[in-house]
Amino acid sequence: MRYVSTRGRAPVLDFEDVLLAGLAADGGLYVPERWPEFSRDELASFRGRDYPEVAHAVISRFTGDAIETAKLRSIVDAAYAGFGHAAVAPLAQLGPNHWLLELFHGPTLAFKDIALQVLGRLYDHVLERHDAHVTIVGATSGDTGSAAIEAVKGRERVSIFILHPAGRVSEVQRRQMTTVGAGNVHNIAIEGTFDDCQAMLKAMFNDPGFRDELRLSGVNSINWARIVPQVVYYVTAAAALGGPDVPVSFSVPSGNFGDVFAGFVAQRMGLPVERLVVASNENDILTRALTTGDHRLTEVTPTLSPSMDIQVSSNFERLLFEMHDRDAEYTAGLMRQLAEHRAFRIGDDAAATVRSLFHAGRCSESETLETIAAVHRDTGMVIDPHTAVGVAVAGRLRGPRGIPMVTLATAHPAKFPDAVERAIGIRPALPDRLAGLYEREERCTMLPNDLPAVMDHIREHAA
Ligand SMILES: *Cc1c(COP(=O)(O)O)cnc(C)c1O
Repeated sequence: MRYVSTRGRAPVLDFEDVLLAGLAADGGLYVPERWPEFSRDELASFRGRDYPEVAHAVISRFTGDAIETAKLRSIVDAAYAGFGHAAVAPLAQLGPNHWLLELFHGPTLAFKDIALQVLGRLYDHVLERHDAHVTIVGATSGDTGSAAIEAVKGRERVSIFILHPAGRVSEVQRRQMTTVGAGNVHNIAIEGTFDDCQAMLKAMFNDPGFRDELRLSGVNSINWARIVPQVVYYVTAAAALGGPDVPVSFSVPSGNFGDVFAGFVAQRMGLPVERLVVASNENDILTRALTTGDHRLTEVTPTLSPSMDIQVSSNFERLLFEMHDRDAEYTAGLMRQLAEHRAFRIGDDAAATVRSLFHAGRCSESETLETIAAVHRDTGMVIDPHTAVGVAVAGRLRGPRGIPMVTLATAHPAKFPDAVERAIGIRPALPDRLAGLYEREERCTMLPNDLPAVMDHIREHAA
């Protein structure tokens, strides 16, 4: 399997090199040269199979010859062995033909674990084979950081630096990152927003000297290897609900557009998907772009669902590339307009090709709280504020009633106890495996929103 950049000016790479590179050298994102496909019989054969088996079947389509099949199987088995639920990503019923896909049973209680637990093990395998070391630099709005740290802590061949916006992540999120106490883990709190962190990250990757000197690698969802394991739960959820004989719809709480893009990939691979609902919080650039064609940056507003407090949704570039028939020149032009004018327009023809599949909606802060309360009142279930955004928008953009709607539950409610307590007066308890989080010592360096200062710090502390 070969990978091309959305901007067309980076080398074509295989899976291993895409994993190590993260961002393409031309500033674009890697995508497969062509989409692998599943037949209906193959999709039907996934019914009743264990999660790691399906994960292996899906991921191997993207790794190609790069990783031998027995090795990949052992990586996938080990990745999910530590999850708190034997089904890995179980479905719970929320209402008539409306389901929650629980993606928060991993070690850091958000869906990011599902991909990063695989990614950490892929790094081990590939770096050992090449006798190499990498410096992972990541930006986090809260959940990627802890999941990435958890996946690579204590590893000899990896140093990891995670930038988070100071004061804009929840205390649980921050402590999960800063209390790990492994020598290869470095936390940096930036005086700025997530978009500032992500912009610095991109600038570091676009500096060839720095990139090569430190052998930078990225774990944000700009890394294609992050998207692949996320395709799996769309496939297992559909299989459990009667797919491929019936189509299924998904509502996805969205920020960087990685998770919902994985749903698009599943559809491209042959999974019958009726619609993908892109659920935004008050930072609704994705909803505005998909409903009006006007993709325009505004300021980031802090919300109850901080992992979606994003304006620059990196993975949207992958969809733009698809919408414009994989025209890399055109995609690069749009990204230049975005950099220069903070906006671009999506042509009506291009938008029409995705509008039948993507539906987008916004959920306000008050609606987020009301939805947590309503779900608790009606079902007794406690959901987190990100999941609530997905549930609220799914309710409005449900589509045909006969088609199962699956809302992705992206985080455990105990990760956002303040918001949940405000909504229902109950403070959700952390699962036992996270006990002690509030007692452990924190380690973190505060830096200004200043690229050279951050680069100096990383250079100084990288192994
Ligand atoms: C990261 C995250 C999201 C957004 O996912 P994207 O892939 O960035 O769109 C939603 N909810 C939670 C809890 C997250 O951690």
